[in-house]
Amino acid sequence: MIDPGLLASALPLPAVSDVVIGLVVAVPVVIVAGGAAVALRLRGGGAKGRVPPGEVATDTPTDIELDRSADATRRAATAEAARPAPSAEAEEPTGPEPTVAEPVTYRARLGKARGLFSGYLGAIRAKGRVDAGTWDDLEEALIRADVGVGATDALLDDLRGRVRSGEIGSPDALVDALKGDLVAMLSTSDSRLARPSGPDGPADGPDGHGTGDGAPPVDVWLFVGVNGVGKTTTVGKVANRLSSSGTKVLLAAGDTFRAAAGEQLAMWASRADADIVRGSEGGDPSSVVFDAVERAAAKGHGVVLADTAGRLHNKVNLIKELEKIRRIADRPPGHVVEVLLVLDATTGQNGLAQAKVFTEAVDVTGVVLTKLDGTAKGGIVVAIQRELGLPVKLVGLGEGVDDLIDFDAAAFVDALF
Ligand code: GDP
Repeated sequence: MIDPGLLASALPLPAVSDVVIGLVVAVPVVIVAGGAAVALRLRGGGAKGRVPPGEVATDTPTDIELDRSADATRRAATAEAARPAPSAEAEEPTGPEPTVAEPVTYRARLGKARGLFSGYLGAIRAKGRVDAGTWDDLEEALIRADVGVGATDALLDDLRGRVRSGEIGSPDALVDALKGDLVAMLSTSDSRLARPSGPDGPADGPDGHGTGDGAPPVDVWLFVGVNGVGKTTTVGKVANRLSSSGTKVLLAAGDTFRAAAGEQLAMWASRADADIVRGSEGGDPSSVVFDAVERAAAKGHGVVLADTAGRLHNKVNLIKELEKIRRIADRPPGHVVEVLLVLDATTGQNGLAQAKVFTEAVDVTGVVLTKLDGTAKGGIVVAIQRELGLPVKLVGLGEGVDDLIDFDAAAFVDALF
């Protein structure tokens, strides 16, 4: 059972109340502890923000609230990361320079998350026996790592049963069993990314996509998520990865709300040796994506990576806009093969509330979890897979062009321990 006091201390309630996706009225998390129900509510946001300078004025008096969670994201990142992230609202495209470094690994970048786990696990091992305190320590470690209440209960129930049955007889065996359980939990969904159709892909696509003249379809990857989570950066990193492996990539600057977003993407395009299609500020993002697919088909790009805006007036608008973008992107020769929801790991459980909104809007094929390098809340990976049933496909472990790796359950859990 989860100790409510512990939970309250582990969940950043003031930040939570601040972090409202505007459109989400309330996301209750109810935990029953010892017969007492503890309800923690992510309160709906009444606060309205002004459209920041440089933003396109909207046609409704309702200000954009989705962006509020990005502000909180940035605050959290600033508090947690060793180096504060530059503001996503910056007018100038001031991204990090490309880095030429050792290949990024979980082990090298998950120092914060490992620090949290190793403290607890060290104490558990040092005891030499499994007792009541062991369970308290385990529970606290998992909750603090943002594994989530449901997953924590499930893990502890399983481990308790195995201790009772005599299968687990020592703290070392218990820690090993926990590790195994976590890997199993994280291996339930397919985290593989779509492979580029490329020149060897199916001509005209398996379902009628393609140019109609025997040329392969244009794969489209959509990137969705609230502002500031790292969408544009991730598009750049993915572009670089695909380009390096020989795929001709075209970027679609679908975030037409901010001029700076287009500039930022153009900078990534030149780093990643990709082409880019941009629309006018305030223009229709769907037509940018449409133009990009047309251009890609004409010029032989195998993949279009489309950035989108993470801000709209309300949930209905968000859903409509994303549905439209997806529909247009999927028109032959376009073929949507990935819809990646980008979530900022530093927001921990709050990211789940964001995710629920986006999954209502589009069929998300997977999650990109960014900024895992700057947080101890690595356990959010478990909550995402368990509660949303979405595979985490990619993980961002830094701001550099190479700081993006495929999700690998075993390597991830290994690095945590
Ligand atoms: P967008 O508004 O969702 O497009 O977000 P951006 O791509 O502009 O990223 C916002 C900030 O997060 C930028 O300062 C990025 O450098 C930073 N960022 C993105 N991904 C990562 C990551 O994996 N780790 C770290 N530490 N920072 C990241």
